Order: sequence, then C-alpha cells, then structure tokens
Amino acid sequence: MRDLTRLPKAHLHLHFTGSMSVPTLRAIADERGMRLPSALLDGDPLRVPATQRGWFRFQRLYDAARACVRSEADMRRIVDEAAAADAAEGSVRLELQVDPTSYAQFVGGITPAVEIVLDAARTASAAHGLEVAVVVAASRMRHPLDARTLARLAARYAGHGPGEVVGFGLSNDERSGDTEAFAHAFRIARDAGLASVPHGGELLGPEHVGTVAEMLLPDRLGHGVRASEDPAVLARLVARGVALEVCPASNVGLGVYADTAAVPLRALVDAGAEVALGADDPLLFGSRLVDQYEAARTVHGFDDAELADLARASIRASRATPASKVRMLAGVDAWLGAEGGTVG
Ligand SMILES: [Zn+2]
Repeated sequence: MRDLTRLPKAHLHLHFTGSMSVPTLRAIADERGMRLPSALLDGDPLRVPATQRGWFRFQRLYDAARACVRSEADMRRIVDEAAAADAAEGSVRLELQVDPTSYAQFVGGITPAVEIVLDAARTASAAHGLEVAVVVAASRMRHPLDARTLARLAARYAGHGPGEVVGFGLSNDERSGDTEAFAHAFRIARDAGLASVPHGGELLGPEHVGTVAEMLLPDRLGHGVRASEDPAVLARLVARGVALEVCPASNVGLGVYADTAAVPLRALVDAGAEVALGADDPLLFGSRLVDQYEAARTVHGFDDAELADLARASIRASRATPASKVRMLAGVDAWLGAEGGTVG
C-alpha cells in the first residue's frame, strides 16, 4: 500500500487560526497567562449539532483560540508550523486562508497584518520546501463594505507564487449575511486576478450553492458538499469547472453529516466534480490533511489510482503557475508508478 504522506497534493482549505496544533495554542496562551476552554485542549475532535447553537459553540471556541494570537511572532509561528505540518504530509502547495482583521490591532493595522502573513509564507516556503500562498478571506458577520476594503488590500499583493495572495474568500456562518451584498467585493478581487473562493454549500443546501455560484462566480467552493443534494446544481458546478474544497472532518465536526461514511465524496467525484480534500480547522476537528486522504481510502474505498486522481484535482484547482503544476503532477505520477508503493 502506498504511503499517503508521500503523495504530492495541494491543500486549498486551511484556516490560519484553525491550523494551529493544540500544544502551540497552549504555549501561546500560557505565555500570556490566558485561560482556554478545556474543550480546546482535550484533544477530542469537536462534535456539535448542525444548528445555530452548534455553530455558536464552534465559533466561541474558535474566537477563544484567535484571541490568544497577539503578536507578529505568534503569527509567524502559526504560518511556519502550518507549512511544516503540511510538508510532512506531502503537501506541495498550501493556500492558507486568513482574515487579517482580528490581528490588525496587535501589529499596527490591517496592512501589516497581511504583510506579516505573506512574508512568513515566503520564508516558510523556502524553509519547508513547498509553496505557501495566501487566500484573504472576508467574514459574513461583518459589513460588506469591510469585505470591499479587504478585497482592495488583497488585490495589492495578487500573484501566484509563495508569499502572494492568490484568492479571495468569504467565511463564517453561511446562514448569516446577504450573499449578494458581497458580490462587489468579489468583483474587485476578480478584477485583480484573484481566485474567487467563498465558502458555500456546507451549512446550507443546494439553493444557496446556486446563489453563491451566481453572485460570487467562484473558481472553487469552500465545501460545496451539499450540492450533491440537487443533481442539476451539481451538474452546473461541474460544467463551470468549479472545484470543491471538501473537508470531511469538518462536515462531521459541524454535524452536517453523522459520520465520515455519510460525506458524499464518492457521489461528487462520480458526478465529475474536481475535489480538493482539505482539513479546514485541525485545531477543532482533530485531524490534518493526510487524514482526509486516509478517510477516502479506508471509509470510501478509493484505491491508489483514485487517490492519485484526487491529488491531481487538488493541484489543478490550486493557483500555482503552470510550470509548478507540471512538476507537482509529475510527482503524483511518480508516486503511483512506484513499484510496491515505495517512492524513493
Ligand atoms: Zn473553512
């Protein structure tokens, strides 16, 4: 059996705060004498019901973790450790999602907050041998004008390589905010050449997937799993070439599906969707990138050729340059071609 940590893959759905390990969060909190909810430290993956109350509990824990991040050193540490953890799992390309708003007050503003993350991404790319790029994400909980400001800021750093902004996202509770009101921000981002990568189709069903697709013209959808509930909506995404960033552990953690087997991974792939597996928030859901590929293998019965196809889809859906993609895809071929599953 081939080693999945050696399968080259792109990680397109990982949040900055949520990428932290429990020991790192504990160390950062200890330095400041901050107390953390025990649920963040007990190592148990979060399991909440798929209700507003369940989301509130998730959000409260997330906010408690984020509140500990209060310096440039913390921010650099998080990027560096996310890159190191990804590289150890065979990730050759990480597109790390960050909403700089909450850290701005500790580092002198929103522009320095973005620049610190970008610089740390550049450094981490060189240190760990992968490409770390950044997705700047607005929040549904804030005013759409804030999203425009963030989109304009993100546009200044647009590019494809390590330490550049490659996409613009929209995160937080999918049931909040008016999706259409964020269309202007996404237009600013698209005009600057950034990928449109909003969340959608996790907490709400196919109807909202349709709204997001129409209003925000996504290149990729964060989650999008519930498009599987309406074949016509899913077929439209496939026809438009919208890739889906599927995060099984997150879906189960947030109660969208009862267990990993219920995540419609096979149905999405069979419908022709480009699926890029992601970890979303390892801090809360208790598993990282390679665990999602392991689940595809052990729970959904993907064989090595199908796992290689998932990895290829993730690479194709990334914003890496064509030359980088060719190199990464060759790595997938080498993994699959290796005799007895060992890659030298
Ligand atoms: Zn997410």
